[in-house]
Amino acid sequence: MTVEQKVKELHHFISGELVEGASGRFSNVYNPSTGEVIAQVPLATKEEVQKAIEVAQKAFPAWKNMSVGKRAEIVMKFRQLVKDNEAELVEIICTESGKTREDAKGEITRGLESVDLAINAPHLLKGEYSVNVGGNINAFSTKAPLGVVAAISPFNFPVMVPFAQTSMAVAVGNSVILKPSEKVPMSALFYSELWKKAGLPDGVWTVINGDKETVDELLANPTVQAVSFVGSTTIAEYIYQTGTNYNKRVAALGGGKNFMIVMPDADLEKTANAFIGAAYGAASQRCMAISGAITVGKETADNFVAVLKEKVEKLKVGPYTEDDVDFGPVITNQSKEMVEGYINRSIEEGAKVVVDGRNPSICETSNGFYLGPTLLDEVTPAMEVYQQEVFGPARIVVRVETLQEAIELINDHELGNGVTIFTNNGAAARKFQEEIEVGMVGVNVPIPIPVGYYNFGGWKRSKFGEGYMFGPDQARFFTKVKTISEKWLSVDDETTTSFAFPSN
Ligand code: NAD
Repeated sequence: MTVEQKVKELHHFISGELVEGASGRFSNVYNPSTGEVIAQVPLATKEEVQKAIEVAQKAFPAWKNMSVGKRAEIVMKFRQLVKDNEAELVEIICTESGKTREDAKGEITRGLESVDLAINAPHLLKGEYSVNVGGNINAFSTKAPLGVVAAISPFNFPVMVPFAQTSMAVAVGNSVILKPSEKVPMSALFYSELWKKAGLPDGVWTVINGDKETVDELLANPTVQAVSFVGSTTIAEYIYQTGTNYNKRVAALGGGKNFMIVMPDADLEKTANAFIGAAYGAASQRCMAISGAITVGKETADNFVAVLKEKVEKLKVGPYTEDDVDFGPVITNQSKEMVEGYINRSIEEGAKVVVDGRNPSICETSNGFYLGPTLLDEVTPAMEVYQQEVFGPARIVVRVETLQEAIELINDHELGNGVTIFTNNGAAARKFQEEIEVGMVGVNVPIPIPVGYYNFGGWKRSKFGEGYMFGPDQARFFTKVKTISEKWLSVDDETTTSFAFPSN
């Protein structure tokens, strides 16, 4: 390979500038739509992470002491810069993740909801105040930033998830270190420059690229006070256990298996339209993607599958550069093979293929990591494709006889991120809302992602630790409370010595 042909070498973003990786270790970044390697991302060593943490720690006191109003102004400028540079950011997201332009735009919009909430930091940082809690003592509480905090993010939302993990952390006065997914590091490097342009002091914002070695230092380093993780359940559990072992605050959000219950009274045409977008959008690579339908009653199942079949067969998979594409490739060839493996094994276990998305026609003309939409019927809870999160466009139908059975199945599943029901029966919807053991619940809403000013997080093995993403909980997670009892002595005050707790 000549020098001209060499793929772009990416950097870290430390102390307000791009810094070359020193480890000599790199990971390939692909354009999943073409299968080409478009860049190489450096994988930071423990020592590089330590240096970045030192820079972040040095920047912390001045940032913490800046008035919260001024900090919010910088976040507001960042928001405007993201809007001004949206078109370029969309192209970067699409190039490194393969999602469609419309979807990338939507991701930025949802990500900005977190930035909007962070602009409200002055309000969210307000403490409590009580006058004369006893003997002319006033009591009040304040919220202080933690110091250096870290965010570790997944590949499937290069902008929305890191924005949700970090915007509030910055606004409330922390120095933030982001470790983006090594599969999609380019978006983060792009918006790092926007933070700098917005006036964020150097060192407050760091992007350190890497893999397990990088993450392990963020978890172990005593300067790092809190870790926000979003990714797969296995790694989320590891992050939670390791981070808390080092006495850190950890919120670790994992994977999902998100079902749509289809009741006998549901309008099947409307329900199918809702299912298709929520199930196959972004090649099903969303933690809140609908993983499958649980149909109540044989007639519902037969009719719903028939309506779905017709619609799923018409879906178009292809590169984001084509406007009429419904969804793009999966993130890597390895990911494609994993999804194919799930489909193959489910067929061996007795699932019925309604639509087969293996070997879509686009694979004859492109080396991109494409899979067409697959729909599997008569899937049972004993099958692997039911039990595991399948992060690619293979969706399932599970047939049950009653709503009670559907609720019990979902409650027995180890994952509990999102769930929804389609029905016009108020009593059924109410029973479902009350009894379902899942963190984010929809009624006639295809993907029950809360808006950015509500807390986002699953139950069971979809989230480890008491911290949420999006929402006001971010302000709590990234601050610590100080409670002050204050009295000013005057000449008239008599002081006595007491060895017991005061009684009223
Ligand atoms: P992943 O778990 O493979 O990677 C996430 C992050 O962890 C990356 O930054 C990666 O570099 C790092 N990592 C990977 N292996 C590691 C290891 N052994 N030790 C330390 N760090 C490691 O997840 P992914 O494939 O990038 O993302 C997809 C997953 O994320 C899906 O399971 C999806 O459901 C989940 N997700 C969840 C939410 C949510 O809100 N619950 C949101 C988005 C994505």
